[in-house]
Amino acid sequence: MQENLNIQMVDLRGQYQAIKHDIDSAISCVIDSTAFVKGPQVSAFAEHLAEHLDVRHVIPVANGTEAIQIALMALGLKPGDEVITPTFTFIATAEVVALLGLTPVVVDVDPDTFNIDIEAIRRAITPRTKAIVPVHLFGQCADMEPLMDIAREHNLFIVEDACQAIDSRYTFSNGTTAKAGCIAHIGCTSFFPSKNLGCYGDGGAIFTNDDRLAEQCRVIANHGMVVRYHHELIGVNSRLDSIQAAVLDVKLQHLDEYTAARQRAAAYYDEHLGDIEELQIPMRSANSTHVFHQYTLRVKNGQRDALRQYLADKAIPSMIYYPIPLHRQKAYLDARYTPDMFPNAETIVDEVLSLPMHTELTEKQLEYICSAIHRFFKN
Ligand SMILES: *Cc1c(COP(=O)(O)O)cnc(C)c1O
Repeated sequence: MQENLNIQMVDLRGQYQAIKHDIDSAISCVIDSTAFVKGPQVSAFAEHLAEHLDVRHVIPVANGTEAIQIALMALGLKPGDEVITPTFTFIATAEVVALLGLTPVVVDVDPDTFNIDIEAIRRAITPRTKAIVPVHLFGQCADMEPLMDIAREHNLFIVEDACQAIDSRYTFSNGTTAKAGCIAHIGCTSFFPSKNLGCYGDGGAIFTNDDRLAEQCRVIANHGMVVRYHHELIGVNSRLDSIQAAVLDVKLQHLDEYTAARQRAAAYYDEHLGDIEELQIPMRSANSTHVFHQYTLRVKNGQRDALRQYLADKAIPSMIYYPIPLHRQKAYLDARYTPDMFPNAETIVDEVLSLPMHTELTEKQLEYICSAIHRFFKN
């Protein structure tokens, strides 16, 4: 039985099959037009996404990493300025901070939501701190209300890394809401194929409600050029190509149903794994919806790796996001970091296990995964 269930971490083929007709004709249309770069599909997609997310500006760029880089460049920070970001995340954030000659300062995360820890931020702030880059990890928003308070208090910029959380909604205590990436000064997302809204190659976007920052980002993404061949800023070349925009415009129409499919799969896992004492199912933050880029368990009895092997033997893939925190990455070692600054991250990296999560998971597959996990813990 196990072989023909063909369970995958992410099933891009199944998702494509369901919308193949629309995708193929959107791609052909770009090829027929030969407007491979700056085609009308790019601005159309940006407009539709802005409407969907209820944000003033969407600036399409080449990938999520460059989205964060361009956002930071637009803030006009100076070498040596410190940028606070979580230690438990993908490397991209700290990487672009360092590349720009800024100083990444990583801090611990909350053990329940895996998102940046507010008190750890407060402790890390110095007179050189200029920005915070919270990551909305695994699909739910970092706690943006206290973050925005800290930013106001200390006159800091916030650049949201919403690469894993597109369409997740944050609710403030006064009842107002905003979507991931559209809450603070600037937000960034990635359209990498496995992301919740993924294209068929690389892609990314910057979000902002600030007209001036939007203009800065647009200029920087286009070689710092305001008038053709007049370069006012040092920029980069970062474009979303027309074929990717055409694919994304089709998939955007399905984003709500994709998110609902992920949430249904998560609810199934919750219901069928929630009673296992050795597991902590994903905790929901009180003020954000969860769009389940990943469904990440904590395996609390030291048996994470044994469980992973057991599942692999039964043709069930799983992944460890992320095995090594940033403060222990060779390229980012810093004398200011001591292990006692990161008690939560140090524990989490040995416990996390992400289960298959995508829009095409069937109940049969979910049932097979959950019963295998139950059998492991009964042994
Ligand atoms: C995917 C991802 C990125 C980088 O996106 P790319 O498009 O691959 O450059 C950055 N941050 C986080 C949290 C991500 O998950």
